Amino acid sequence: MTYVVTEACIKCKYMDCVEVCPVDCFYEGENMLVINPNECIDCGVCEPECPAEAILPDTEDGLDQWLELNATYSAQWPNITAKKDAPDDADAHKGEAGKFEKYFSSNPG
Ligand code: SF4
Ligand code: SF4
Repeated sequence: MTYVVTEACIKCKYMDCVEVCPVDCFYEGENMLVINPNECIDCGVCEPECPAEAILPDTEDGLDQWLELNATYSAQWPNITAKKDAPDDADAHKGEAGKFEKYFSSNPG
């Protein structure tokens, strides 16, 4: 199993998760982070740290799309090991519906 970053991260990018991951397996895109499922050791430490509740264990139903997206883009985007400032409008996008269709970017962070 692994943990995955889901739609709630898009345009939020608070990055609290990055600080706590013991194996530095987060990767940064323009609008969201992803977890490398091959590097994640399933410790679960990041899940409660995310203010957007964007991180979920892949044992939950309905996450196939997100598991695939995390695997795909963690191979393309740069590794991130230190927390940066969240975007100025992060709070405005917290909890917003349909963020993938509206804002997802495949560009690296
Ligand atoms: S803490 Fe949550 S919203 Fe922030 S970057 Fe990590 S997964 Fe995304
Ligand atoms: S579950 Fe642990 S190893 Fe996996 S991404 Fe979260 S903090 Fe990192």
